[in-house]
Order: sequence, then C-alpha cells, then structure tokens
Amino acid sequence: MSQEKNHMDYAQELDIAVKPELMLSKLQVEVGQLIGHGLPLFTLGGGYLRAALSQMLVNFHARRGYYIAETPIVSSSALFELSGHMGFYRQNMYVFKLEGRDYAVKPMNCPLHLTVFLSEVTRYRNKVSLPFKIFEVGRVHRLEPSGSVYGLLRARGFTQDDAHIITSGDDASKVIESVFDELITIYSKVFNVDINPRTLRIRISLSDKSKIGTEFMGTREEWEKAEGFLISAAESLAKRYGFEYVSVEGEAAFYGPKIDVLVTLGEGQNAKEWQLGTIQFDFNLPRRFMIYDIVKELYGINDVYIIHRALLGSIERFLGAYLENYRGRLPFPLAPVQFAVLAVRAGDQMDEKVLDMARGLHSGLLTRGFRSGYSETTRTSLSGSVRQIESTAKPPVIVYVGRRELEGGFLTLSVYKNGSRQSTRVPARSLEEALSSIEQVAKDLESGVAEVAGTELRIPGDMSYML
Ligand code: ZN
Repeated sequence: MSQEKNHMDYAQELDIAVKPELMLSKLQVEVGQLIGHGLPLFTLGGGYLRAALSQMLVNFHARRGYYIAETPIVSSSALFELSGHMGFYRQNMYVFKLEGRDYAVKPMNCPLHLTVFLSEVTRYRNKVSLPFKIFEVGRVHRLEPSGSVYGLLRARGFTQDDAHIITSGDDASKVIESVFDELITIYSKVFNVDINPRTLRIRISLSDKSKIGTEFMGTREEWEKAEGFLISAAESLAKRYGFEYVSVEGEAAFYGPKIDVLVTLGEGQNAKEWQLGTIQFDFNLPRRFMIYDIVKELYGINDVYIIHRALLGSIERFLGAYLENYRGRLPFPLAPVQFAVLAVRAGDQMDEKVLDMARGLHSGLLTRGFRSGYSETTRTSLSGSVRQIESTAKPPVIVYVGRRELEGGFLTLSVYKNGSRQSTRVPARSLEEALSSIEQVAKDLESGVAEVAGTELRIPGDMSYML
C-alpha cells in the first residue's frame, strides 16, 4: 500500500523536487544544508511542471481580464514600511542591510501590485478602468517557524497564484462571484478535481462587531458592506451549486473579512480536505497607499475595496497536497514526462525497424512540443520496464512500439485516465500517421486546459533520462 508515501516521495520519483536529506555525491553535503531550511529545490521535472503551470495560469488570467504583473522579489524596506509589514510582520521577513540601506524580500505581493496600480493611474489617470485586476505568479519568502517547515506543504519560499482587485462597491459582489467561477474552472478543467457539494465547502470569517475600531481596523460601514458582499456571493453560489457555507464571527483578520475555500483532493481512502483558495478584503492597505483618495478624485467613487485572492494558494503546497492525494498522477499538460516511448524487444533481437519508428516518434513528439522519454525494453520482461516507469516517471501515456505493432500498422497506447490505465490502438502505417494519431490523443488530454487557457501551452523536453 502506497499509503506510507508522502508528497516528497512522489516529488522525488517524478523528479519534481528532491528531499533535503539527499546527500550530493562528491560534495558530501545534503541539499537542504546547501540551499537552506524550508527552501525546496525543484529539479528538472519540476521546472517543466512549474513553467507549464505558470504559463497556463498567466494565459487563463489574461483571458479573464486580469493584467499580468512581474514584480521584484527584493525591494527597499521603505515599501514595507509604507504597507505596515515592517511593523506587524517583520519577524517573518527576510530583511537585510547593504550599502547602508535596508532591503526586504517580499513576504507578500500586495504592496508591489498596489504600486503598479498607482504608477498606472499617475500616468493614465482614469483611463485605467475599474475593477482593476492584477495577477502574478508571485514568489514570496516568509520566515516560518523552523519546526513547522515541512517539504512543499510548508516552505519558507513559495509561489502564490496571487491577484489583487480594486473594485467599487457596486461591482464587488459580481467580482467575488467571478473569482469563484475562476476557482471552480481551474480545479475542474486543469486538475480534474470533481467539484461538487461534497468536495467543496466555503468558510466566511467575519468580525466581532463589538471590536470594530479596536481589534478590527476600518469603519463599521466598511465591515458591514464587505461582509454583505461575501455573504451574498456565498448565498448565490450555495443556490447555484449546492455548496455549504459557514460563517464564523470574530475570525476575520484585523484588516478585513475573508472567504476560505476548502477542497477535497483525491478519492476514496486517499481523499483529504485542504484549505486552498482564499478571497480576502483589506481595509488597511487602501488607507496606507491612499487608494481611497485617488479613486475618489479620479473616478468619483466613494466606496472602493481592495481584495486579495488566490485560487490554488501556495503553488508548492497545492502541488504537495495534489501529489499525495493523487499518488503522483499529474494531469497530462503538467506531467514532467507526458509520453514514454518504449521500443519493445522481440526475442533476442531488437528489430531495426522498431528502433527507427520508436526513435522517430520520440523526436517527433519533441518537435511537436511534448515532453517525451525514450527507452528500450530488456529482453526478459516488458512488464519490468513498465513497472519501473510507473514507480518513477508515471507518464500519462505509454507508447509501445514492437514488431507486432509495425506489422499490423498500429500503435498500442496505454493512457492513464480517471484513475486507471486504458489500452487503445491507434492507426500508424507510417511515422507521420503515428504522430498525428498520438497528437489526437494528446489533444483530448489537453482539452480542459485548452478550453480555459488556449492551446499553445506545450513546453517540450527530452525526458529519456528518467526512464
Ligand atoms: Zn495580497
């Protein structure tokens, strides 16, 4: 039973990340020691996975009307003085001094996104329309307590699918509902999570009304309105999809109420609920960055809100949870190895024609933008080769090329779908026909991502080293 395997076992099998205790040969030092506690090292498969996921997230958000940001990881600490982080969050920040100046590694993207907004309205005034939505695949660093750091699930350096929305009160409910729609779309279309009332719950954290002005900053009116937007969005979702929601008084952050989305990943015994997406109001930053004044002056709007939102939350944590609950089976567009092309030996000899076809397929897949690995089976056992591949790379598609296939003018594909492998034969009377048959299968496996983020999402890689 693979129950004892944790997400780092799968991450290492798939070459996504290495365990920090891996001892580097010759150097005789552990990876974790060299890189630092709580800073996961993504390896080659992880590089492809993250590049593909980032590209997909950028395309998706750009299509949904978000602007795309790319902001510095290190900035002057003045930015975080202005945002207040140096006051109330400094113990969690990497801060350092160089040439007599103080710098900080960003623990959050918000102050930078607001600075982008301020620059744009300074240059283009109200030609920049509201709601202003800005998205970044944003790398942040937080000095989490040493004892709580754990693999990808709780790291000190991680990446948020982070967006900030500046909206008028009139648009706020609609904005929140559309964020939910985005969340459901990403989970179901990209990660094949079956979203239904059993797998998704909503928790709303509200203020304690008697403590507004003391423990909860902002005005009573701001809180009441923002909480009203969250509740009405939750109600409309509950009606539309049958989701359950609970609201908890007094649980809000000091700067605003929020919704947390709890999603169950995995199936059967492997299923587990995670707190993942979040939508959070903020009454602190607009004051500190003078957003209220600027929006009133430029747009003539009196009630304006800043919303932080993430769909996956921390990408590292999400991947860790996903790997563990789906036992290392990643969706085709994100899998480090998408295709394993196996040249199957018949008897003692490897048929030259089989080799030509298998090698041709492997390089043809690379030129078509896929990540493919090529390997030749040993004489003794085809199942041994497959077992080895399944215990490491877990490619969604295995392509078998043997004498039987060549003579019959077909290929056998083993496609991992809905929890198991299914064998299928595709026409392959020539290399070209074989490649276009395989591409057709790929298109089907890419259809969810293509639907939400467009089709040009392939990032090729020769992954033969993993097979
Ligand atoms: Zn934020």
